[in-house]
Order: sequence, then structure tokens, then C-alpha cells
Amino acid sequence: MKLRYEYEIAAGHRILDYSGKCRFLHGHNYFFVVEIEVEELDEVGFVIDFNEVKSILLELDHKTLLRKDDPLADLLEANGQPVVRMEGNPSAENIALWVGQRLRERLGNRIRSLRVVVWENRRGSVEYRYP
Ligand SMILES: [Zn+2]
Repeated sequence: MKLRYEYEIAAGHRILDYSGKCRFLHGHNYFFVVEIEVEELDEVGFVIDFNEVKSILLELDHKTLLRKDDPLADLLEANGQPVVRMEGNPSAENIALWVGQRLRERLGNRIRSLRVVVWENRRGSVEYRYP
């Protein structure tokens, strides 16, 4: 059985060690397409509750996504701004990976395949696939 869920969030970010204009703090409306395939449904009869997928995406909504060592992270948090610290730069690629890893943690070995597409704007998207 395969589930498909689409959702849009707004988030800020910046890319460190990069010479393009994305090194400056700015934001996007990220559009997500999540596809999850499992062998067997859970006890309730779901692949996964749509709300669980949504809640993972909402962890990023209206937050500033920063590389964990970005000096802006402490400054923003000290001023009451919510920050999500990521292992690497908060590129669309790493955001897709972040969401994919959370879904994998949630689904464990029930998962047969997973696809997380992140559209950063109307022109460009990236895709995380598992396995
Ligand atoms: Zn950007």
C-alpha cells in the first residue's frame, strides 16, 4: 500500500561556505511531496497517520533552518526565534534527508520504500529516496 501526502511550509535558512546569494538569510515556501510504501498496514489500518507526516513537516514550519555550527543560531534563539539546527547546510537536499530520516525512524522496518520531494521554488526540486 502506498500513501502520498503533500504539504507546504514556510521557513528561513542560509547556506554557509557558499559564495552565492543564498549565503544571506532568506526564506522559501517549501512544497513537500511524501510517498511511503509499506508491506502491511498498522493496527489502525493506516500506512501512517497523515497527521504524523504533517507534524514532522510542521517541525520546520516558520522556523529558521541553520547548520548546527551557524553562529546565527544562538543569536536567534536568544531573541526568541525558533531555530532548527541541521547536521549540514539547510539545503533542500539536507531538508529532504532530515524529513526522510524522521519518517524512517517512525516507520522502522515496516517501510518498503520512501520518497521525499522538496520543491524550493517552482523551478527546482530535490528528491530523497529510500532504499
Ligand atoms: Zn534558499
